Amino acid sequence: MEVGMRLVKIYKISGTITAKSGLRIGAERGEVAIGGIDNPVIRNPLTDEPYIPGSSIKGKMRSLMEWALGKVSAKQDKSNSAHQCDKVDCEICRVFGSAANQQLPERGPTRLIVRDAYLTEASREALVRMGQEKGQLYTEAKQEVFIPRLGGDANPRTTERVPAGAEFDFELVYKVYDLGDGGSLDERYFDEVVKRGLELLELDALGGHTSRGYGKVAIDYKVEEIDLASAG
Ligand SMILES: [Zn+2]
Repeated sequence: MEVGMRLVKIYKISGTITAKSGLRIGAERGEVAIGGIDNPVIRNPLTDEPYIPGSSIKGKMRSLMEWALGKVSAKQDKSNSAHQCDKVDCEICRVFGSAANQQLPERGPTRLIVRDAYLTEASREALVRMGQEKGQLYTEAKQEVFIPRLGGDANPRTTERVPAGAEFDFELVYKVYDLGDGGSLDERYFDEVVKRGLELLELDALGGHTSRGYGKVAIDYKVEEIDLASAG
């Protein structure tokens, strides 16, 4: 049976994310161990280059928009459980998606896809040159000293980060569905949630150690509109 739901438009955002300070998106524990680095950044296993997972960008946009819209759930704890609800018009669930047990057929599919962001050609070359001079490929290591609060020896650790100035190509895809409203609600959320989320991301930061100044980014993009309704 038809549900009367139709994909009418796709927005494609493409551009560049520039690290304005050291950027650190950590690898999962135990995933990679590079000699001397205690906290390695996540790398593409095929090329060994650092990258920004789409899930990191999307997760940060979601979290910032949850705060901006007052939708941070009270039971949110360190497990970082995201907002979930059963409202059909919820900005967060509609744009960013929801857990399988909160999927509402009448809300339609998740509207936003964020692809992994890889180094631009120019940045790749610059970081390779830097690596040849400093002996560390693509990243820099920062020594930080952690002093245990309950006394004991200060504990120097080496944190790996992508240096300021590095640029990444990024791409977002946003789908507008007509759920009987001609797609007007999804159109509105493109401005109010997706573009706003990118603005907030620039004002905030990406990755880890942000309270110590890491992860400031500049985002430049263009929007392409692919109209599917007029093609029919
Ligand atoms: Zn919701």
